[in-house]
Amino acid sequence: MAGFAAADSFSPVKSDLQLLPIRFERLGADRFLVGNMVGDMAEMTAAELDRLCALDLAPGDGLYERAFENLFVGSTEQRAQQQLLALRLRSRLSFLRAATPLHLFVVTLRCEHSCPYCQVSRQSKDRVRYDMDQATASKAIDIALSAPAPLIKIEFQGGEPLLNFELIRWIVVTAKQRAAPLSKRLQFVVATNLALLSDEVLDFSAEHDILFSTSLDGPRDLHNKNRPRRGDNSYELAIAGIARIKDRLGPDKVGALMTTTEASLDRVEAIVDEYLKQGLDGIFLRPLSPYGFAMKTKQFQKYRGTDWLQFWKRGLRYILDVNKSGRRFPEFYSSLIVRRMLSDEPIGYVDLRSPAGIGLGALVYNYDGTVFASDEARMLAEMGDRSFELGTVHEHSYRELVLSDTLVSAVANSLTQTAPQCSTCVFEPNCGADPVYHHATQQDLLGIKPLSEFCQRQKGVITHLFELLEHSPEDAAILRRWAS
Ligand code: SF4
Repeated sequence: MAGFAAADSFSPVKSDLQLLPIRFERLGADRFLVGNMVGDMAEMTAAELDRLCALDLAPGDGLYERAFENLFVGSTEQRAQQQLLALRLRSRLSFLRAATPLHLFVVTLRCEHSCPYCQVSRQSKDRVRYDMDQATASKAIDIALSAPAPLIKIEFQGGEPLLNFELIRWIVVTAKQRAAPLSKRLQFVVATNLALLSDEVLDFSAEHDILFSTSLDGPRDLHNKNRPRRGDNSYELAIAGIARIKDRLGPDKVGALMTTTEASLDRVEAIVDEYLKQGLDGIFLRPLSPYGFAMKTKQFQKYRGTDWLQFWKRGLRYILDVNKSGRRFPEFYSSLIVRRMLSDEPIGYVDLRSPAGIGLGALVYNYDGTVFASDEARMLAEMGDRSFELGTVHEHSYRELVLSDTLVSAVANSLTQTAPQCSTCVFEPNCGADPVYHHATQQDLLGIKPLSEFCQRQKGVITHLFELLEHSPEDAAILRRWAS
């Protein structure tokens, strides 16, 4: 019987090891964050990082095991580590196989609110001029149903979309009829301030399983300050609407989004408390975007990225403590990022992916039939910048729109995988390309990352979440639950 080889013949020798692609960032005097190309990260001292780069590793020394576990090194004799990296990368990018699941129909630009931070430049009058018509909607439905994604989400936007509820009704019924023979599944969402919610809207929504997304900026005074309307009752209408939807359609049929204005910055606990009071299932602590009235009224310039980061950190601390007391209440941006950090699930969120989500993640059909690459792109167009206009529903097919020179060059020119700064950044696998934001703020699709508030926010958020995951076991357990 053949004998086994001696034990030491199974020990790798240094020359059998090879360094796989890694990136690193200094966290402190003798602390480095080291990451692989699929987002796994580990903290190391300078001496450990030196040893890793020199492949000065030996089984049993701890660093050897961490380096293998995090796919920082592989064996020259085997391709298993590289194959695992390739498989995981493919899984993380698999959102590309189900292109364009989200379709936003701007059914009207009219609105009865007059919010100073409005990002879509709403109009107050002229129904004929600013409402989408049936012929335009019909063409937009056909384009949406031509997208490869098996589940097509149609979101009604405005202005205030309930001002054109007749068209919403027609689109829902018509899209369902046309989707059936194509075996496409449909989901409908109305993004509304709820001021015009009626029994008729609720009945139709119950019949067609329509979801609602609304805005709630915090307690009464803050919400009404941010969202003025005649009667000064935006808050009252919003919370009454949330309660009616929960009651009539179910607690999971309505979600809310908040926008951080300068007035919100020192009130994050009160904002979170308002969401808890209304029985909402979590909160998305969103920064203000640089579009529409937010730019015209200079709301966007009123605070910096670092101010938002402090606001988010303080809010997250408060929310984690709420969760410790037994109530599950996620902060949705943290959940998304932690999910990216801890799993290889493809993340559909359009701002957190590269290739960018414009066009490939969402298309926007404006009230007049113009098609834009994202909601932000149409907001930019309302400000006179039509850089991300892809065509029109009246002349172009889905294929022509997503293969248009405008979209192809915007996506190709913004890849983080090859961009200066991003391509060597430890956060890249957990970050994303946002060409519309960088074009709007820096007139540069790729973005000058050292000067980008998007980049500053991403670095701050991912570093903070990494620290909590590594050094705060109770917080880490909550974050893991949110992400699962
Ligand atoms: S945007 Fe900033 S944080 Fe994101 S990958 Fe690029 S350099 Fe890194």
